[in-house]
Amino acid sequence: MNRKKIVAGNWKMNLNYAEAMALADAVKESVTDDQQTHIILAPPFIYLHELVERVQPHTVVAIAAQNCADKNAGPYTGEVAASMLASVGVDYVIIGHSERRSYFREENPVLAEKINRSVENSLVPIFCCGETDESRKSGKHFDIVSQQLEACLFHLDKSRIRECVIAYEPVWAIGTGVNATALQVEEMHRCIRKTISEKYGVEVSGNISILYGGSVTPQNAAGLFSVPDVDGALVGGASLKAGDFISIINAMEKVATQ
Ligand code: PEP
Repeated sequence: MNRKKIVAGNWKMNLNYAEAMALADAVKESVTDDQQTHIILAPPFIYLHELVERVQPHTVVAIAAQNCADKNAGPYTGEVAASMLASVGVDYVIIGHSERRSYFREENPVLAEKINRSVENSLVPIFCCGETDESRKSGKHFDIVSQQLEACLFHLDKSRIRECVIAYEPVWAIGTGVNATALQVEEMHRCIRKTISEKYGVEVSGNISILYGGSVTPQNAAGLFSVPDVDGALVGGASLKAGDFISIINAMEKVATQ
């Protein structure tokens, strides 16, 4: 299987203009076009257009939005449409991050619509799924994640789902400094691939990149990347410091080229 290896940085609502540009420049300078690991930077909306231009001509660095509207266009004050993102050269969009689910009450049906708007506009969704601490403790974590996949992605046809990227992000590991263990990640990534393969077949499921997210750091990255079925990471806090993010990229590259 030749799945894309990806390290994506979710900057969330952080960094002013000068800081954002400096971070992007530092990442850009550290990568080479022949590397295996693809880098995705997900800044706040306001920096997207400039960053698309700024990271060119790199073929291994792409830009993602952190969200998009579930509607095409119209009187939705404050929203940004997938078509607008595509029109400024954005390639990816994060959909279903747990912060969107909890603070902005985004549930599976609206996330399924956001997935639709993304793929209709040729944006690659980075679909986030993951269980809360409570669901893990009650042993429902595999069911919860499978239901999120089914409700938000399984209406897509084969040609569209194979373009999606999935990020397994246990809610209890996001921003807490407590990452999932290698075993927990391995079991869940295997379950995600199996769930997709039961619906779409092994060829499709084997080609989808599944990232792990949740307190990834330069210290734990190598261990997490060597777990079977892990194709990279979605990184929050550690993506805001160039040195840390580049170390994580290098850890992925080392595993990818072994
Ligand atoms: C995230 O927000 O997607 C994330 C994984 O955050 P952190 O790396 O800070 O846990």
